[in-house]
Amino acid sequence: PVMDASLGDLLTRVTALGTDRPAITLDDRTVTFGELDRRANQVAHVLTTTGLVPGDRLAVLLRNTPEFQELLFGAARAGVVLVALNWRLAGPELETILTDADPRLLVAGQEHLALIPDDHDARTIVLETDYEPWLADAPDNEPPDHEATPDDVVLQLYSSGTTGAPKGARLTHANLAFTPRMGREFYAMGPDSVNLVPSPLFHIGGVGYGLTALGQGGHTILLSDLSPAHLLEQIERHRVTHAFAVPAVIGALLTAPRIGEADLTSLQRIAYGGAPMTEALLRRAIDALGCGFMAVYGMTETAGTVVTLAPDEHDPGGPRAHLLRSVGRPLPWLEVDVVDPVSEQSVGPGEVGEIRVRSGQNTPGYWNRPEETAATLTDGGWLRTGDAAYRDAEGYLYLHDRIKDLIISGGENIYPAEVENALAADPTIADVAVIGVPSPRWGETVKAVVVPAPDATIEPAAVLERVRERLARYKCPTSIDVVEALPRNAAGKVLKRELRAPYWG
Ligand code: ATP
Ligand code: MG
Repeated sequence: PVMDASLGDLLTRVTALGTDRPAITLDDRTVTFGELDRRANQVAHVLTTTGLVPGDRLAVLLRNTPEFQELLFGAARAGVVLVALNWRLAGPELETILTDADPRLLVAGQEHLALIPDDHDARTIVLETDYEPWLADAPDNEPPDHEATPDDVVLQLYSSGTTGAPKGARLTHANLAFTPRMGREFYAMGPDSVNLVPSPLFHIGGVGYGLTALGQGGHTILLSDLSPAHLLEQIERHRVTHAFAVPAVIGALLTAPRIGEADLTSLQRIAYGGAPMTEALLRRAIDALGCGFMAVYGMTETAGTVVTLAPDEHDPGGPRAHLLRSVGRPLPWLEVDVVDPVSEQSVGPGEVGEIRVRSGQNTPGYWNRPEETAATLTDGGWLRTGDAAYRDAEGYLYLHDRIKDLIISGGENIYPAEVENALAADPTIADVAVIGVPSPRWGETVKAVVVPAPDATIEPAAVLERVRERLARYKCPTSIDVVEALPRNAAGKVLKRELRAPYWG
């Protein structure tokens, strides 16, 4: 299989398929591969003449826009590390990350300037006013003289901050080279694929996933607006063949007003993951969208997907429908194990333990966090994911939440996802999160925070009665809070630490 030594080489290879072919579209603007290649050369030259040397960091604070990829490939060709910043953070959160990343240069959208602290000392290039003049005179026909090696770090992505402060995961050219391979071998993508990337490019599910089709010379569609109507319109307009979306976005798409009449015949595969998918939503999505579905499980630290459930393993009416609750099996080029978190010994089928991964996709470590790196990477090359799961006899993985979210009530381990799945099947509930709250008697007890379905009223007693038919008594919520919406981060994940905070003080 083709494995490019660097992101710069990848762009050179796919550009050779045709310089006039569309690479990235945002609204009415399309950048061809020829343009992307030339602009990346310009970025690389300007970074070099601005004085950045290999290993220096270039931060970007941008909405999804083709310049993001231009800067990534340009940085790659100059040996510079692109640090992608989350513009949805609050000022003080962003300040912490900027201080941590210590970039030499920052490219930011005008609308995000207010987030940047006044005393920040890196030079800021404003996208709307400074960027074009900054590139204008740089040569575009060849990159500067820099030879990247596969183990050079090219991208520094901050984890989503679901369990604590975001950590800067360093990713190498070699780590990211698996993504195009994933696109070819698992998504069945080729040069004619049209790939919708709704997730923010500052997360692996955006920038990493974007390389699946881009790495085949396929066409990437970015979105300026995540409304269900716009998603649907873009799928139809561009005849989108592939997409990856977090469950919350898939759920929103299904509420689009015209979903029943839309022409979705171009869709081949939709991958979902990044946060737990309930079986109820998955069944509705398969029904409504009528294309192949793929579960993907992975994390920033593994440069994305490491486990996947293929389209032919999604068979809602068949004898293997239980697989709809699984995230699938490991990719063939890596190893996944489930271990007892204390003894670190593999556990048998059906037993819950911590997932760990040994692969060429694993980060060489976090930026600036030797202790967290040591706690995450073992000497034997395994990465501890912090996610709990069990495997069935065939090796399919069933996720069981994060180890940090485990509820221990009266000595029993309760996995919130199991309780959430049972509640999600309730007709009056649109969205749900389950947390542990203090209990004088049991240590912790189960609380459900629920969002009512449109036009439904939640009657806690009735909900509890229904859920007791599906779950052991000790797993059933002892209280239900009704809210308008759950707190989610930019990766579409429920912020359980925020939900827990008022109860734990
Ligand atoms: P932080 O590490 O900062 O707390 P995070 O773990 O949410 O944030 P990411 O690297 O973006 O940051 O997300 C990876 C995590 O997302 C995984 O460890 C897992 O908990 C969750 N996840 C990924 N894929 C799936 C999936 N298919 N189903 C359920 N959860 C998933
Ligand atoms: Mg994490």
